[in-house]
Amino acid sequence: MNSATVLPKRTLGKTGIDVSCLGLGTVKFGRNEGVKYPQDFALPDDRSVQSILQQCAERGMNLIDTAPAYGSSEKRLGQLLENRQQWIICSKVGEEFDKGESHFDFSAQHTRRSIERSLKRLRTDYLDIVLVHSDGSDEAIIHHSDCLETLQRAREDGLIRAYGMSTKTVAGGLLTVVHADIVMVTLNPGATDDRVVIEAAHKHGKGVLIKKALNSGHVVAAQTRAAQQTQDSVQESLDFIFANAGVGAVIIGSITPQHLQHNIDCAIRAASQD
Ligand code: NAP
Repeated sequence: MNSATVLPKRTLGKTGIDVSCLGLGTVKFGRNEGVKYPQDFALPDDRSVQSILQQCAERGMNLIDTAPAYGSSEKRLGQLLENRQQWIICSKVGEEFDKGESHFDFSAQHTRRSIERSLKRLRTDYLDIVLVHSDGSDEAIIHHSDCLETLQRAREDGLIRAYGMSTKTVAGGLLTVVHADIVMVTLNPGATDDRVVIEAAHKHGKGVLIKKALNSGHVVAAQTRAAQQTQDSVQESLDFIFANAGVGAVIIGSITPQHLQHNIDCAIRAASQD
């Protein structure tokens, strides 16, 4: 494959896990209620999901992000993802989404059961990455629950390769850098608070994943409404993100092939500039 058409890979901190610099977010594979996207949507059928996954693989994407809280996302990936060994699967623990509502459980018992359930749903015997799906109380989860310790044990038991937290606060991000392998933070040109977390992770050799790179699509939707077609907001966001040393990969969710193709092209350009 021509290197200009294939996503470059980066190692996540000291985990030894090599991921494409763009990963696929899969909320929209499994859940269309209680989400914050600009437009309503129907869940894609199996053939569309397979086609998206194939498109990713053809362009060198190996990172896929899912969670128990993303409705049927894990189960569908278990059914539809081929060549599991070629993928780096990131799932989560802590958040459950049931009957239209989220609830959270960071106890040791729930954490272990959640991992075992993800393994079954994803039809695999290991998860590459498991992140705590924070409810916003990042510091309390780290200091007053057994969640991270349970993830550490799961890593020792060979069920997972690396763990961390998808954080919602700067203080929680900084603590995650100290206590875990990987931190997932929000970054886009309109949300820059977590840059200090990325700097700390880079300094300590910890992996960094970026969520909400397009502010759940609102970055692009705002541009379309304003019809400012002179600048490409996807390229702008990705250039901005990859200018930060230490960024491993950006997770962007998409079920639209044209968007996915554009995101991959922009990520290749942005990641080659740093
Ligand atoms: P996002 O990646 O910032 O945006 C996704 C939205 O943007 C989708 O509605 C998508 O629509 C649209 N989009 C993507 N590319 C586009 C393009 N080129 N042009 C126009 N629209 C485009 O937001 P997100 O889904 O909230 O987050 C991404 C992933 O991060 C999630 O899937 C999830 O895996 C992860 N995440 C994790 C957490 C956490 O707490 N761990 C929280 C939020 C997100 P189309 O489908 O039509 O392309």
